[in-house]
Amino acid sequence: MSAQSNTSRIWLSSPHLSGREIRYVQEAFETNWIAPLGPNVDNFEKELGEYIGSPHVAALSSGTAALHLALILSGVKTGDIVLCQSFTFSASANPIVYQGAIPVFIDSEPDTWNICPQALEEAIVHFLKRRQKPKAVILVHLYGMPAQLDEVLALCATHDIPVIEDAAEALGSAYKAKRVGVFGKFGILSFNGNKIITTSGGGALLSADEKAISQSRFLATQARDNAPHYEHTQIGYNYRMSNVCAGIGRGQLEVIAERVHQRRKNFDFYKNHLAALPGIRFQNEPEGFFSNRWLTALTVDPVLSGGVTRENIRLKLLEENIESRPLWKPMHLQPVFEGAPYFGGKVSEKLFETGLCLPSGSNLSETDMERVVLSIKKCFD
Ligand SMILES: *Cc1c(COP(=O)(O)O)cnc(C)c1O
Repeated sequence: MSAQSNTSRIWLSSPHLSGREIRYVQEAFETNWIAPLGPNVDNFEKELGEYIGSPHVAALSSGTAALHLALILSGVKTGDIVLCQSFTFSASANPIVYQGAIPVFIDSEPDTWNICPQALEEAIVHFLKRRQKPKAVILVHLYGMPAQLDEVLALCATHDIPVIEDAAEALGSAYKAKRVGVFGKFGILSFNGNKIITTSGGGALLSADEKAISQSRFLATQARDNAPHYEHTQIGYNYRMSNVCAGIGRGQLEVIAERVHQRRKNFDFYKNHLAALPGIRFQNEPEGFFSNRWLTALTVDPVLSGGVTRENIRLKLLEENIESRPLWKPMHLQPVFEGAPYFGGKVSEKLFETGLCLPSGSNLSETDMERVVLSIKKCFD
């Protein structure tokens, strides 16, 4: 190993091009389908829908835009209650506020680290008693791990509340042999640069409801009514994916199976080399759940580790030019959401305190991961 490769930066999750993207992008250039829309967008939607098993897909400018449209199409308006998993990235919750609605945060359960069905039920009952029926539930498949879908879907069906699946991190993950993103009224995906595949920036909205998806395309292109001039009866958005970005996405989608395979291999590598260290635990994958292992996530219990903390490890990795990151800071602890109602205990808080994401890109070499493992082991010497 050269000194250079020994000190080069190892990233958490960087874009990994397949080489097949350029063909689609070139085609877009040659046919002058640069923007907006065009055949790459249509085909990306079709190919994505086939891969996931979702009958209708709208390609959009971001996962955040997809969530925003899902809320609009669920009828979320000013003052409405929307229940949202607390343990997530802020983009899951921000669109609630775009709508002037009230975010109510729900704790995680320890098995999958995703929304806790008991805490969710408590919140639903609480608001029903006050005649404030929640307008939607946003659950997240965090780091690629599917949430407890059976329990959550049954609960929301009982109370007739639409479920929005934030599958931004979970393309390729499955629950009981069905790909996630198709279980709720809406599913959303992200193709941001750090996700399992990228369009350089983009997202998608999924639904079995054809009318809802066609309405999302209408809203995403400035809500232009059918007239020769520009006629508007609704507020629109500029949320569509461009034909160039969709070309990148098509080239990325061709290799999604390999990307999932590689990320799962990364996880196995880390687990094999680190699970024996005292106090280290990896995110569990229960029977019937299949995670794309977007990021390998672990927790460090300082009582069992002999005092080694997540922060010791993060700083050690940083010293060795390796990027790692604490698990998401729960939304109910974020200054921007101060005062928002919260249901649950301290599961997500504890995960934030003790958890770390390791470099997990599908373009990492085994040498890179060996360097990560070695650095972590040094903390335990
Ligand atoms: C990345 C991400 C989003 C937002 O997606 P963008 O395409 O970046 O807008 C939403 N939710 C979660 C959980 C994410 O990780």
